[in-house]
Amino acid sequence: MTKVYCKKASYDYAVIKPVVFEMMDLHCAGRIRAGSRVLIKPNLLAPAPPDKAIVTHPLIVKAAAEYALERGARVQVSDSQAMGTFERVLKESGIKEALRGLDVEWRELNTSVAIDIGEPFNRIEIARDVMEADVVINLPKLKTHAQMLLTLGIKNLFGCIVGLKKPEWHFRTGVNREMFAQLLVRIHKAVNPAVTLLDGILAMEGEGPGRSGVPREVGVIMGSSDAVALDVTVCRMLGLDPFSVFTNEAAKDLGYLPEEIEVKGELPEIRGYRFPEIVPLVFGPKALHGFMRRYLVQRPVQDDALCRLCGECWKYCPARAITRDRQKLAFDYEKCIRCYCCIEVCPHAALRTEEPLPGRLFKRLKRDSF
Ligand code: SF4
Ligand code: SF4
Repeated sequence: MTKVYCKKASYDYAVIKPVVFEMMDLHCAGRIRAGSRVLIKPNLLAPAPPDKAIVTHPLIVKAAAEYALERGARVQVSDSQAMGTFERVLKESGIKEALRGLDVEWRELNTSVAIDIGEPFNRIEIARDVMEADVVINLPKLKTHAQMLLTLGIKNLFGCIVGLKKPEWHFRTGVNREMFAQLLVRIHKAVNPAVTLLDGILAMEGEGPGRSGVPREVGVIMGSSDAVALDVTVCRMLGLDPFSVFTNEAAKDLGYLPEEIEVKGELPEIRGYRFPEIVPLVFGPKALHGFMRRYLVQRPVQDDALCRLCGECWKYCPARAITRDRQKLAFDYEKCIRCYCCIEVCPHAALRTEEPLPGRLFKRLKRDSF
């Protein structure tokens, strides 16, 4: 029986430390020894303070690091951020300050090794430090995600794909979200974290996972040695069908869903959590797919009053679908693969998804006809 532990917590180190230590004891006992190379992988998407709920809270990173250090391990904190410099992410998130005085190395993931993750992706490049670590500690943040619905334990490990290889994989899987979810599950399997500890104390709802999302107090830390079990349990806590999250569905299809999940501790019932609206990108006859994507599917749009033309979105867009047109952004919706990475990296919350008018009408007609 696969176990998922759930504990109420707050961002008080006297509360967090024993919770993290207990969960690490349950999942990593014996795996972290003197001299072990331990890599801690938080969610360090972008430079942001803890109250924005964009990155894993510094006190959780600190507690995981202290646990490994006390067992004599060599500890490294790493990620490959989507925007800004790694140094800036550490500074603004408060992680640099939290780790002050601890013998911890922090380093951006920037070199890769080719790993065969199986059909149809075969050999893909994953961060060398991650693949060479003895133990990986996965520290996701509970956040919504405009493309995948939620980003939890499995999605967090996409950060082990270095730099611009990430948008490249978005482009290669294109509009096929199921395929992208399969890629994420296989990356997670290749990385094989010893434990996944989810920061669900201050979570994010709405149009996450970047600045367009809204912080929401949930007040829990959850832990498991099985990230799929953890992700499924988070959905149950939020009142969501676990298989509406693409990564959970992909894990089930690939045979990684545990037969039974036992929840230890008290799983709260979170009501009214706001999720991004995810509509199928294409459905029905293939000949209509282009039309549907153009006219029915949500597209990224900018708020001109908030956009500062900083360029982060067009630098990151895997489809090269964004250009600057004088003092405005211009989207090429023919090219756009609806990955919503632009919304994720925008530092000024100037982007959101919007359904084109035909899409709204189509939905209303569909609703009224039942
Ligand atoms: S939409 Fe956001 S990321 Fe893009 S240019 Fe404007 S402010 Fe920058
Ligand atoms: S415009 Fe935005 S949603 Fe479209 S492909 Fe580029 S990053 Fe993805």
